[in-house]
Amino acid sequence: MAKHRGRGWHSRLVAAALGVTAMAAATSVWTAQADTAGGRQPEARVSAPDARHQDRAVTKVAEDIAHASDRGARGVNITIDDGPDPTWTPQVLQLLKDNGVKATFCMVGTQAQAYPDLVKAVVAGGHRLCNHTVSHDTAMDKKSEAYQSQQILDAERMITKASGGVRPQYYRAPGGAFTPYSRHLAASRGMRPLGWNVDTKDFERPGADVMVATVKREISDGPTVLFHDAGGDRSQTLAALREILPWLRQQGYSFGFPVR
Ligand SMILES: [Zn+2]
Repeated sequence: MAKHRGRGWHSRLVAAALGVTAMAAATSVWTAQADTAGGRQPEARVSAPDARHQDRAVTKVAEDIAHASDRGARGVNITIDDGPDPTWTPQVLQLLKDNGVKATFCMVGTQAQAYPDLVKAVVAGGHRLCNHTVSHDTAMDKKSEAYQSQQILDAERMITKASGGVRPQYYRAPGGAFTPYSRHLAASRGMRPLGWNVDTKDFERPGADVMVATVKREISDGPTVLFHDAGGDRSQTLAALREILPWLRQQGYSFGFPVR
């Protein structure tokens, strides 16, 4: 099923990428929002003095959706979405630490803003940050480019502020609702668009055993596995992680980060 969804996204992205109108509109938005003439317009969009300082460290990354692991063919990328959450994130962090696993946390901007200490704890644990927009609108691919820009750039600022200056290195659209425009914008800000290969569907609470079986069955499809640390009772997620992380290591997998 994950594969089908993957192809679906790709088809949509290709179709949208062929839309010259969309690209022209993107250019006009940048032009309208740039506060200075000339230069690279995406950088000009963020004009606060502190942001200018941060921008020196921003390096553009590839715009296509990453799935691969920096640990190669036997690498696994554990990704944890929708937090941070005061109940579940500390437990997930402890479990990852117990298993010697570094993960990628796709954070919602308002959650990061509400729980900056948890964002800092994630960074201190050696994990990476991913921008999951301000308000997790899974229909944002149907919305205006100005809206998509606000959702991505405001979340970037919220997460970076909460972390104490550590920037998100990835961008994952809520529900996979990427557009060519949002991928381009995120990549221009150093955030690699990030997909997934294995959906544990932990959000639907199918039972930890079902989630474990899903990972065992589908990990050969690709290395990036999706879990959540917010949005309700995540005790099944914890139980599944407790079982699947040692299993993956026993199978010869190592844990890494998505490529950038
Ligand atoms: Zn999400």
